[in-house]
Amino acid sequence: MCSKFDSTKLPSKQIPQLTDVQIPIVGIVGGIGSGKSTVIGHVTGLRIRLIQADEIAHELLRTPSIRAAVIHRFGESILDETGEVNRRVLGGLVFGETRQHRENREALEAILHPAIRKRVEEIIRSTEPETDVIILDAALLLEAGWKSSCDAVIFIDTSHELRQERVMRNRGWSADELPRREALQWPIDRKRRESDFVVNNDGTLKESGASMERILRQICESKRATLTNRPSETRG
Ligand code: ATP
Repeated sequence: MCSKFDSTKLPSKQIPQLTDVQIPIVGIVGGIGSGKSTVIGHVTGLRIRLIQADEIAHELLRTPSIRAAVIHRFGESILDETGEVNRRVLGGLVFGETRQHRENREALEAILHPAIRKRVEEIIRSTEPETDVIILDAALLLEAGWKSSCDAVIFIDTSHELRQERVMRNRGWSADELPRREALQWPIDRKRRESDFVVNNDGTLKESGASMERILRQICESKRATLTNRPSETRG
């Protein structure tokens, strides 16, 4: 039995509180390879600020303090020949079901998550006011308790068969890679249940993008209505 990410272990100060931000913040979740990053690129009629936690994690691994903390915990053998953290090696240490994998994963999350959160907040607070919507694409958004910082969460619904086929074809994953990684996240049904909206991505990207755009417009409208109805002294 593998251990799942446990958000209750996070100190409450690690949960971002961004309720004063006027631009709607929308979290995107879904199974691995469901199309979280791709579908958003097919929304054409809105000004979107896309924040990808995975990308931030990659950048952070190159910063001196995070790099040093990772080396301190995992040793110099996780570095590649250029001195950068080798993410493939690091992935091998954290993506697995043994107790050692779990301990490694928790150690890495303890180093990375607070730094990711800080960076996400910085980006959100420096987002241009003309932006229609901020999208937060973070694999563990629900697991890490970030839902409370979002105006809404959208679940990208893609069948297991299609996800499997797409990651094998486009990423060269072996057949067992998807289930292995998926076992470390919340079950798909739980993610769907915790979300406010669902976009089906079993069809074309054009259809999914249009469906996503309709939902985003609805969220923006509802946020606008909330801000308009707020007593003026509490407006940011
Ligand atoms: P991860 O969970 O690993 O971050 P993800 O949910 O962000 O993945 P993507 O990387 O966006 O998923 O998509 C997975 C793969 O499926 C990509 O290669 C993408 O091009 C492809 N894909 C996504 N949606 C569709 C679609 N509707 N039709 C065809 N290919 C798609």
